[in-house]
Amino acid sequence: MTARPAAPLGRLGVFGGAFDPPHRAHRAVAEAALRQLALDALLIVPTGQAWHKARALSDGAHRLAMCHLAFDDLPGVRVDRREIDRRGPTYTVDTLTELHAEHPDAALFLIVGADQWLAIRTWHRWADILRLCTVAVANRPLAGPQAPLPDLATVGLPHVVLDVPPLDVSATALRALWHDGVPPCADAQALVSPAVARYISDHRLYASPTPDA
Ligand code: ATP
Repeated sequence: MTARPAAPLGRLGVFGGAFDPPHRAHRAVAEAALRQLALDALLIVPTGQAWHKARALSDGAHRLAMCHLAFDDLPGVRVDRREIDRRGPTYTVDTLTELHAEHPDAALFLIVGADQWLAIRTWHRWADILRLCTVAVANRPLAGPQAPLPDLATVGLPHVVLDVPPLDVSATALRALWHDGVPPCADAQALVSPAVARYISDHRLYASPTPDA
């Protein structure tokens, strides 16, 4: 029996990030993107040592493992390791270019949070990124839960806004809560999935606070 070739993808989402660790807001954004953009597939793409992150990230193998724990049960979602495996700096434009070559007929959607969207002009070859895909933005509070949400339109570039309730959750805050693998209180633990919480503790991640952690 010959295997039937996979159906071509019509709409392919790409959600990149450090995912150090993947948390509840990442999951909510992924679910909103799948639903609202009617994606055939959504790739979760943990970055290599990203050029724009000041601090050293946890090992790629850990972040990849946590992404599998956080996302594998979502239908249509696949964790994609290409940026972890890539040598040298990893750029989103290279990932989009590769995906365009692999799926020439697919419409590509890049999913980002508001912080990334507001900084899009600092991204390597950002204009090419906008030519390759539609950017879908999830708004998020950037200055604490009570602060007004940023105005995404100030960027002045085309995008769609994802309909996801703003969540004041960040990986930075989560890393600061885990000390030497000792989990924080149950409320804080609930900001990641139980399997991710266990993984962080078992592997004693985020043991020593880094300057920006
Ligand atoms: P850090 O605090 O380490 O910068 P982070 O919480 O922003 O991490 P990343 O892994 O850097 O998480 O984010 C991956 C993507 O998810 C980015 O586009 C980011 O803007 C988006 N994102 C992260 N948290 C939220 C949130 N609370 N609401 C909307 N988007 C988010």
